Amino acid sequence: MKVTDHIKKANGTTRFSFEILPPLKGQNITSIFDGIDPLMEFNPPFIDVTYHREEYVYKELENGLLEKKVVRKRPGTVGICAAIQNRYHVDAIPHILCGGFSKEDTENFLIDLGFLGIDNVMALRGDAVKSETYFKPEKDGHRYADELVGQISQLNQGLYLDEELQNNTPTNFCIGVAGYPEKHMEAPSLDSDIHFLKEKVKKGATYIVTQMFFDNTKFFQFVAKCRAAGITVPIIPGLKPIATKKQLNLIPHRFSLELPDDLIMEVVKCKDNHAVRQVGIEWCIEQSKELVAQGVPILHYYSMGKSDNIKAIAASVF
Ligand code: FAD
Repeated sequence: MKVTDHIKKANGTTRFSFEILPPLKGQNITSIFDGIDPLMEFNPPFIDVTYHREEYVYKELENGLLEKKVVRKRPGTVGICAAIQNRYHVDAIPHILCGGFSKEDTENFLIDLGFLGIDNVMALRGDAVKSETYFKPEKDGHRYADELVGQISQLNQGLYLDEELQNNTPTNFCIGVAGYPEKHMEAPSLDSDIHFLKEKVKKGATYIVTQMFFDNTKFFQFVAKCRAAGITVPIIPGLKPIATKKQLNLIPHRFSLELPDDLIMEVVKCKDNHAVRQVGIEWCIEQSKELVAQGVPILHYYSMGKSDNIKAIAASVF
């Protein structure tokens, strides 16, 4: 079922959903099920599975030269989605990127998803490859997520890349895109970021999931700005509980967002990461309760494969 239909069916109540990431290459799918099993009692209408593009690693050869190798450390997004739908009978939402994909790769990826009975996709640009500063599209790939959304919408109308194909079956994907309450790190301003978010919606996106935030005011202001800009689709808040002291520096740096001083001070006072995890849970429960009171359609948690803290939060909120 489409995310937008899940929202309609919920009839104004708030549902619980979460995101997982594929295991590192060589690990077993059991670790995925172990992370999902404890969360199923909260009846998620869908589970997102992230996509991880290739990385470059450099291996030193005997002659001292460096050999560049392309590796994907977390493959398996599509297989995990199929396994989730098969095991839990819940919609699985694969993330799909511009990065590393030509338009032809994108089309073939979407054909696979359609055959698997996947109804939703989350369309993203992806970040630059780790060793590069700026995002570079593939030759004949998409530069921004709005172009990718456009291609998926075309396929939903039965328009494939090969114009000579006839009697084509249209796909029927519900398309989600990313929004950034504290603006995307590369965007010159929040207004310009929202301008391009609106482009994604104009090209066919029917819901938005936000980047994590730790101050609900940022989310409420973002939603108000989106509505003022004419974006009417559902906006789903993404939440992540802090779990380690290191994240105090890592999260603002990696995601270009601010942590509230009260949260920082609570974490600083903690003696160990066990205590930090507890602070993160309590903070996220407060955030979640306020968002539910404001009537958000879904609370979407970034589980990172660890379910104990998400379970504790969901148990207090749902
Ligand atoms: P875009 O919407 O293309 O925006 C990128 C930047 O370009 C923004 O600054 C925007 O303002 C600007 N921009 C957009 N369109 C235009 C245009 N036409 N002209 C000029 N400027 C423009 N990454 C992964 O690798 N795998 C994942 O599974 C994944 N899942 C995510 C899920 C969520 C909910 C979120 C919030 C992020 C996720 N990411 C993931 C991270 C995401 O790929 C990065 O944040 C990436 O840098 C931007 O992706 P985007 O789709 O928002 O890009």
